[in-house]
Amino acid sequence: MPSFLPQKAKLLMTLRAQAIMQPDILSAIETIPREQFIPDSLHAHAYENASLPIGYKQTISQPYIVAVMTQALELKKTHRVLEIGTGSGYQAAILSRLSRRVYTLERLRPLLISAENRLKNMQISNITYRHGDGAKGWPEAAPFDRIIITCQVAEIPANLLDQLKIGGILIAPAGPSGKEMLVRVKREEDRFDKKELMPVRFVPMLAGTDD
Ligand code: SAH
Repeated sequence: MPSFLPQKAKLLMTLRAQAIMQPDILSAIETIPREQFIPDSLHAHAYENASLPIGYKQTISQPYIVAVMTQALELKKTHRVLEIGTGSGYQAAILSRLSRRVYTLERLRPLLISAENRLKNMQISNITYRHGDGAKGWPEAAPFDRIIITCQVAEIPANLLDQLKIGGILIAPAGPSGKEMLVRVKREEDRFDKKELMPVRFVPMLAGTDD
């Protein structure tokens, strides 16, 4: 199997040039085999700084965006993190390296099943998986230190804000589809502080569950 060393080196250089400086994030991107999260036919593109199709009209995010969102979460090894939109499982794999446990929710069952198999085959054991509607969150496991939404939402679902700890951070692509901004929400004692970070493009959050 090719090791993609030159492609990885180039990607890491690109990320550093774009102000991704956290060594543990760069090291996770270097060591997690992104080629295993995408269809075989796209392997040659695994370390391009681009989003790629993963089936069911969904995408694995661009490495730069994965890194920006992860950096904005300010993760600690003690944190419990909720991810909405498991997709390929790539972002969950990165989060799992930097936190204590990741709870990942996916609406499309086939994507969830393949992500779970893939991550278990990689011996990653601190991720809990659930099929369901991300807008409802995961009340049984709440509150979370960090929440990351990896699909576009017109507004951040109230259930997810409720499930964030005081002092916690939530990152989401929020706003009208096609005009969404990466938003960072910090929950204070008595309010939610919101900051827009940058414009981004994400696949939209799907309503309800299919089964
Ligand atoms: N984080 C993923 C990329 C996610 S793409 C990765 O690293 O590969 C967005 C994902 O959100 C898709 O898999 C899509 O099926 C999922 N999604 C869309 N609506 C959802 C909802 N209501 N609840 C949970 N997941 C949802």
